[in-house]
Amino acid sequence: MTHTKETIKQQVEENKVEFIVLEFTDMLGDTKNVELPIEELDMVLNNEAMFDSSSISGFSAIQESDMYLVPDLDTFLILPSMVDEDRSARFICDIYKPDGTPFEGDPRYILKRAMQDAEEMGYTVNVGPEPEFFLFKLDKEGYPVRQMNDRGGYFDASPKDKGDKVRRDIVRTLKNYGFEMEASHHEVAMGQHEINFRFDNMLKTADNIQTFKNVVKDIATNHEYHATFMPKPIAGENGSGMHCHLSLFQNGDSAFYDEDADDGVSKTMKQFIAGILHHASGIAAITNPNVNSYKRLVPGYEAPVSVAWSHSNRSCMIRVPTTRGKGTRFEVRNPDPTANPYLTLAVLIQAGLEGIRNGLDAGKAESRNLYEVTDDSVPTLPTNLKEAINALKKDTVLLNALGDHTSEQYISAKEVEWTEYSLIVSKWEVDKYMNK
Ligand code: GLU
Ligand code: MG
Ligand code: MG
Repeated sequence: MTHTKETIKQQVEENKVEFIVLEFTDMLGDTKNVELPIEELDMVLNNEAMFDSSSISGFSAIQESDMYLVPDLDTFLILPSMVDEDRSARFICDIYKPDGTPFEGDPRYILKRAMQDAEEMGYTVNVGPEPEFFLFKLDKEGYPVRQMNDRGGYFDASPKDKGDKVRRDIVRTLKNYGFEMEASHHEVAMGQHEINFRFDNMLKTADNIQTFKNVVKDIATNHEYHATFMPKPIAGENGSGMHCHLSLFQNGDSAFYDEDADDGVSKTMKQFIAGILHHASGIAAITNPNVNSYKRLVPGYEAPVSVAWSHSNRSCMIRVPTTRGKGTRFEVRNPDPTANPYLTLAVLIQAGLEGIRNGLDAGKAESRNLYEVTDDSVPTLPTNLKEAINALKKDTVLLNALGDHTSEQYISAKEVEWTEYSLIVSKWEVDKYMNK
């Protein structure tokens, strides 16, 4: 929906809105917000809402901490669940510096730059994400315990599926938020669920992923569950991915469809895929951003391990579903839902565009079950965060995609995270080696 300052003021008045919530996303992918009383609306609409960014991960150094929250008017939303009570409205914001220029470390800005690069080559990109999550029970104090909400499995129905009411409430709320909702179902693991919403352009999709995750967490809490997007909460069970379906358009037509090709897939799509495969190791540092992410990327759980593409194989990083025509697309399977969606889409697109510019070759589609291929004929994704970060450090295309500020801050934050993890002596180690 397109809004102007006037339509916003009118709706604020009609709905007796009391509070304005200004949202943005930090470097690590967490939504941050600040709330202002409605009397400050004019100040907000004049782009004068200042905040101290020095305590936001990946934002500025202490000596330049004042930043501005500039509301994206198209993201204005009267928060439906609260219409009768708190009457608040939200904006998703861009971050600006005091000199009036965009802050280069704002993940939304980094994605906008990638979209502009695609546009300069004549392309627009649509993305459909598939975030999965677990519902866990809460203890008496309201903290999560490691007990799933049910013992259901793939597509199970109630009463095995004890998440159906939660999912319905999530779908209902998101519809009120203006989302076009698609299917929802119990996923493979006990306590695991998936809800899909319709694809959109990259910026809208990244905004939607953040809103989706916040709504899922809020609604789960209302039902006295804890929702987690942690990639691998239970060893030996499927983990949670956030597959991203990408399609590319040029002058309104699919740039991925070629009716004359044997498989209906254009050369452009294969080059785009080749770009992503070529940069896969560094991409993983963004799409699989934490220590736990790599415990999901192991054989046997429908998560990818191989840097390869295929028409049907779930062990490959990229899969091309059978739909052709405008719906011709590919699915990137390694991202997980803890990834910052703005940075994720930015690096995927920049790597893909690089593949087109350099005419890269994706090779043949893989038809083998790569979980069973043990030789080195197919490269694998990094096996831990450290390997991924080391690959990112050497990948100038990805470093440029992120910009100097975020590259530096991201790599340093993730190195600290890795060191922290390396220093832990786990129960597994004690059990394994205590008798040595
Ligand atoms: N949960 C799987 C993963 O970790 C994906 C299952 C599916 O194909 O939906 O990626
Ligand atoms: Mg799924
Ligand atoms: Mg999928």
